[in-house]
Amino acid sequence: MKLGKYSLGIGDRFSHQGVAQLRGIVKANQAGFDISPVWNKSNREHIYVHSHPADVRKEADAAVAALGFEGKYFVDADHINMGTVAPFVETSDFFTLDVASFIGKESPAIEVDAFVASCAKYTGDLAIPGINHPFKVSEELLENVAHKFLAATQQASEIYHFLKTAKGEGNFITEVSMDEVEIPQTPVELFFILKMLADKGVPAQTIAPKFTGRFNKGVDYTGNVDQFAIEFEEDVLVIDFAVKEFGLPEELKMSIHSGSDKFTIYPIMAGIIQKYDKGLHVKTAGTTWLEEVIGLALAGGEALNAAKSIYANALVRKDELCAPYADVIDIDDTKLPSVAEVAGWTSEKYANTLRHIPDHPDYNPNFRQLIHVGYKLAAEMGTTYTDLLKKHSDVIGSCVEENIYERHLKRLFSL
Ligand SMILES: [Zn+2]
Repeated sequence: MKLGKYSLGIGDRFSHQGVAQLRGIVKANQAGFDISPVWNKSNREHIYVHSHPADVRKEADAAVAALGFEGKYFVDADHINMGTVAPFVETSDFFTLDVASFIGKESPAIEVDAFVASCAKYTGDLAIPGINHPFKVSEELLENVAHKFLAATQQASEIYHFLKTAKGEGNFITEVSMDEVEIPQTPVELFFILKMLADKGVPAQTIAPKFTGRFNKGVDYTGNVDQFAIEFEEDVLVIDFAVKEFGLPEELKMSIHSGSDKFTIYPIMAGIIQKYDKGLHVKTAGTTWLEEVIGLALAGGEALNAAKSIYANALVRKDELCAPYADVIDIDDTKLPSVAEVAGWTSEKYANTLRHIPDHPDYNPNFRQLIHVGYKLAAEMGTTYTDLLKKHSDVIGSCVEENIYERHLKRLFSL
């Protein structure tokens, strides 16, 4: 099973927007692309909305059937580990092995030494084709890299081999993710991480490193854009070289866990993958849920009231809702509107405040981030919420489609 050159990770908390999401991708494919949808959902999301991995498979199959989509599509067990993978085995065919928590864990000295010895030919000046400066590789750097990443790659190997036994070799896509950490991996570290994965027999088709800057959920990138551009370009070249050097799958490509809406850096990524004719996987976060709230606001009446009450509750339960996402949100409390203020809003005012149009005068990233983490509240509303989704599926569906196509794919693929 091979992942295509371009793929987009799409999340859907409540599993009602599969068709609308796919319509956004079909629109880009009609412009000459072959972008594969990958429906992703993590264990944490399943817990909060009380859904099961099989529901994501059902949604994906139904959306594909409804639109007669003939391209490849996948269902991603997002950010799983040995402890959480089991319920995903049957219905997922894409597995994101999250080994970030193993970074820096101790490995046996004999393994560290063996790794360092196996890298003897790379010591000194390591030249990567396309990168105009060689990397200085010392024995000390190699030891450091081994201490940081051997245990993490070993963990990836264990999960991969568990899946290989459970599903059969070649029957699933393997992604290795190390993005949910504080410190970015450098391009030279990525090179040796890929060597470790190859050594351990992990045929990764996508790799998700941590980049410089903040990838907060649902809002734009903040950080050093020039530094990001250098890292991204060097990583693309490192992957290309590592594939040839270590015999990794030739389709191996970068996976960006974007947290959605990284409008500033999407065109940079687009330029670099075009320059080298490389593939890309971009995971978006659960911003489809935000489009549902926008759609409800636009629908007016009881739906607008529901959107307002979601905000009111989110404001009261802010600390609880933000806690699990503390590392990936930045909310300025002083810029959050009061419940009374929001109560007086029109449909348009609510939608424009929440919708991510960076230069719209009403857009408020603080409001947006708080609603983003508030999906648990909608889950608690149960069928009251999902009945509203069904009732207003037309307006919500067009918001979802527009978000995927206009704000994401257009920027990512220079459409
Ligand atoms: Zn991630």
